[in-house]
Amino acid sequence: MARRTELKQPVAAVTDIVFEDLPRRLTDHGREFDEEWLRSVYDFAKEQHEGQTRRSGEAYIIHPLAVGYLLADLKFDPTCVAVGLLHDVLEDTPAVKQTLSSKFGEEIADLVDGVSKIGRHEYVRRGDAQAETFRKLILASAKDLRVIVVKLIDRLHNMQTLGHMKKEAQRRIARETLEIYSPIAHRLGMQRVKGELEDLAFFFLYPHQFAEMETKLREKVRVGRDSRRKIRGQLVAAMEQSGIDCEISHRTKRYYSIYQKLRRQGIDISELYDYLAFRLIAPEVKDCYAALGVVHQNWRPIPGRFKDYIAVPKPNLYQSLHTTVVGERGQPFEVQIRTPEMELVAEEGIAAHWRYKEGKPSAESEDRGILWLRQLLEWQQEVSDPRAFLNTLKIDLYPEEVYVFTPKGEVLSFPRGATPLDFAYRVHTDLGHHCAGARVSGRLVPLRTPLQTGDIIEIITNPNREPSRDWLKIVATPRARSKIRHWLNTQQKKRAVEIGRTLIEREIRKFRQSARRVLASERLQEFLTEEGLSSVDDLYSKLGFGKMQPRAVVRRLLTEQQLDQEKSEPGVLRRAVKRILPFGDAPVVVKGHGDLLAFLAKCCRPLPGEDIVGYITRGRGVSVHSAECPNVKNLLYHPEREIKVEWSKEDSGSYEVTLVIEATDAPGLLAKLTEIVAKLDSNIRHIEAETYETGKATISMRVLVRNRRHLERIQRALADVSGIFEVRRHMSSGDRVAG
Ligand code: MN
Repeated sequence: MARRTELKQPVAAVTDIVFEDLPRRLTDHGREFDEEWLRSVYDFAKEQHEGQTRRSGEAYIIHPLAVGYLLADLKFDPTCVAVGLLHDVLEDTPAVKQTLSSKFGEEIADLVDGVSKIGRHEYVRRGDAQAETFRKLILASAKDLRVIVVKLIDRLHNMQTLGHMKKEAQRRIARETLEIYSPIAHRLGMQRVKGELEDLAFFFLYPHQFAEMETKLREKVRVGRDSRRKIRGQLVAAMEQSGIDCEISHRTKRYYSIYQKLRRQGIDISELYDYLAFRLIAPEVKDCYAALGVVHQNWRPIPGRFKDYIAVPKPNLYQSLHTTVVGERGQPFEVQIRTPEMELVAEEGIAAHWRYKEGKPSAESEDRGILWLRQLLEWQQEVSDPRAFLNTLKIDLYPEEVYVFTPKGEVLSFPRGATPLDFAYRVHTDLGHHCAGARVSGRLVPLRTPLQTGDIIEIITNPNREPSRDWLKIVATPRARSKIRHWLNTQQKKRAVEIGRTLIEREIRKFRQSARRVLASERLQEFLTEEGLSSVDDLYSKLGFGKMQPRAVVRRLLTEQQLDQEKSEPGVLRRAVKRILPFGDAPVVVKGHGDLLAFLAKCCRPLPGEDIVGYITRGRGVSVHSAECPNVKNLLYHPEREIKVEWSKEDSGSYEVTLVIEATDAPGLLAKLTEIVAKLDSNIRHIEAETYETGKATISMRVLVRNRRHLERIQRALADVSGIFEVRRHMSSGDRVAG
């Protein structure tokens, strides 16, 4: 053995327990019970665990026996003690719940089953919120608080004997104790259990810090022994003088609570003064206040340190008066003053309130139990909706919530009625969107199956799966609902955008324009601003949802020239002819405004010599129409925009004219037409032919001419060609309002 001193763990394990200790403790506390019955419980447990050993090498039954003893010692009822004896039977032996209920009754079977279920939840560390959820899971899993009490005592004994485990297991179990079980003990008001759990966890988890603190604290206590004795003597004398009959004890604070205090205040243990606390137990409440007065007369109280938990109990029903005063040489010390009942509550918490007689809670204790639950629930308002808790105090601690596990062991809480789909959306939005099915604890279930506390949920995905409107009826969480809604809206908008884009592109092409160019133009940006649209997609979606008409939009996007190029017929066999000549400025003079830009309207393409009318467009100059153009009538709805124009004297330009030719389709017809036009000193700018099943053809041809006479010559020459039976000049019309 090494010579160095073994560090002693702060709470020794209860040892050398024999069965007879249990009935003795119960009797000490005034419990009435059938000892034979308790022995039969013990014999059954011993028989079930026969041959099993603990890591220490001892027979396994030592552990349940110790748990039963600790429960009896903490004044719990015989049923609790029996559950302590049986608590590992379902988990570690072939015995089933059925056996327990036939042998010892339904109540005990249910309680043992409850303790086993808590044991099955594996805690995976994921931060504070996760720890809180796990604590709630444990509280919620238990239909009866005695299940939790037995679990805490089971954990306490396991912590007392943790030294036999491997280092890694020690750390894991100690951490879980600190994060889960000691806070639960605290909530149940079981300060002694909480303190012991914490100190043991501290010892195993932070051995170096523990050792250092232990040494320094021991020294501090040793050095302060005299002054402590002195203060105690002065307290006793002061109380006697005032006729207050009270017990005075002192105690050093617990290791872990000191450790936390040092860390919180960022100080060293040498700077810690109020590690000493005196406790005065006075018979009545009035005596407590009287004792407080005496303390304050003899020692100067530190302002702000007086707490009246008698008038305002802590949420876990702790009641006491606290004050810190300054002793000789300026050393502060704390004094706690309370009645014996308050002391009981402070040390035992729920055990003091929740008293069972012959396995059944009395009406009074049941009321107190309900009060406890209420306090517990109110304490946790900060993490949940308080209304949900106040409405229900009866069966479940968290009736509105269920707790389920991810395959990795993370606990998630959901409102009751939530389904695997809610679960999927909680984990990840994409997991929700592509959720194709779910396994609950390994079994495939429909997506609408409600989640149950303790379920392990695994989501099956399919990349092709998408949310549907039906899903809105399945989910129970606002998150899932809003994610599904958002997806459905987005999809609908996406479709509308696609449809809108198709509609407007088709409309633009009707005017022989490049949709790509128009939709990227500055004019489009202007249009968006004018209409208060945020983007091109916004425009598309308006079109797709039918809130805007493609034609109305295109009319505002295209110039008048462009609008003039509307195709008259769809489905045309097209043959483009190369552009040969550039198209010069219009040989038109706008009267009184020589510098105004003028152009010949494409709908009628007036020729020199014809009567013409000018029309002021928005930003594109003056469009010049033939007086006979059908569009002029429409333009004159805006007479203020009409302007007088006339042909200039110089006659040097070429003018585009569209000719429509009706013919019998024959091979070489187009070649022939082209030849004639060329011979007459003209050029074809564009040609389209449409053939019909009847053998007829309609040819549309844009040619350049110098003037009316030139055009007439071409028209006549074409009309002479055999097979051609009509040649007419085309003037496009429509209901357009020129802009
Ligand atoms: Mn156990």
